[in-house]
Amino acid sequence: MRISVVVPCYNEEAVIDESHSVLYETMKSNFDDFEIIYINDGSKDHTRDLLNKISIAFAEVRTIHFSRNFGHQPAVTAGIKFATGAYIIIIDADLQDPPSLIPQMVEMARSENANVVYGVRKSRDGETWFKKQTAKMYYRLMNHLSETKFPLDTGDFRLIDRKIADVFNQMDEKHKYIRGIISWIGFKQLPIYYHRAERFAGDSHYPFSKMMQFAMRGLLYFSKKPLTLATNIGLGLVLLTLMSLVAQFVKWYLHPESMIIGWMSIFTAIVFFGGVQLLTIGILGSYIGNIFDEVKNRPEYIVDEIVG
Ligand code: UDP
Ligand code: MG
Repeated sequence: MRISVVVPCYNEEAVIDESHSVLYETMKSNFDDFEIIYINDGSKDHTRDLLNKISIAFAEVRTIHFSRNFGHQPAVTAGIKFATGAYIIIIDADLQDPPSLIPQMVEMARSENANVVYGVRKSRDGETWFKKQTAKMYYRLMNHLSETKFPLDTGDFRLIDRKIADVFNQMDEKHKYIRGIISWIGFKQLPIYYHRAERFAGDSHYPFSKMMQFAMRGLLYFSKKPLTLATNIGLGLVLLTLMSLVAQFVKWYLHPESMIIGWMSIFTAIVFFGGVQLLTIGILGSYIGNIFDEVKNRPEYIVDEIVG
């Protein structure tokens, strides 16, 4: 039974040799039949040459080079598409997710007949307080807003079997939020707990702006609640205005002398409703932007070359 490992790599020259040897050793000593697929997501450093060397030296290794940087999720998507194994493992190149967990994941999938074994981070080292807290809040918010339930504190480090991969490969959503889609597919999914280590070397490629983009994508693709939110706020405010109008009328009837015709109230109302409208348009716009991307129907990634 073949096991495939999918590893997205973007500017990982500092870690790739070390992580390859750890990964390769783990695979070689535990499985008879395996393959490792590296996806070079348009790296600008020496990752390309390093991966080519590895792919030529080891028969079990292949590298897919993208024509430019398409992002982590497209890289994983390509890896799943090219993988031929009965089980596919998705793992980062920086050794933050321990390769030593792979045999356990495979064992669990086999013995429990699971289709997905997803890694849950019990703790995370070497990441800022800010990243940890925002990630924690985000996963909880997502669960609250989305119609699909997601396991908490889970990244893309996971095992999926052929059944899941085949369904996944048929989806042609352009901006895949992979962990969301896999939860959504269903079948038997089990957690495995681990400790997320510090990056072995190099820097994170998920700066705040990318994190925000990723978070927004997950939210917009997996929840229609922000649309409802806009409608509800709008409705609430209209009711509030009506009530205030009634109150004004009563006041005018009872104490006409106390009425001050002020410009403040008008000013506030204009600004306030302007804000509400902009908010609503913004939410609508985000969904329309995504529809636009889907309609264009461009490929998610472009392969330049396959080595090995
Ligand atoms: N990655 C990628 N394309 C990108 C950004 C990242 O293929 O545009 C890869 C990266 O090489 C690593 C994985 O995705 O293997 C996770 O990235 P990183 O470690 O930078 O993210 P973090 O662990 O800080 O969330
Ligand atoms: Mg990392």
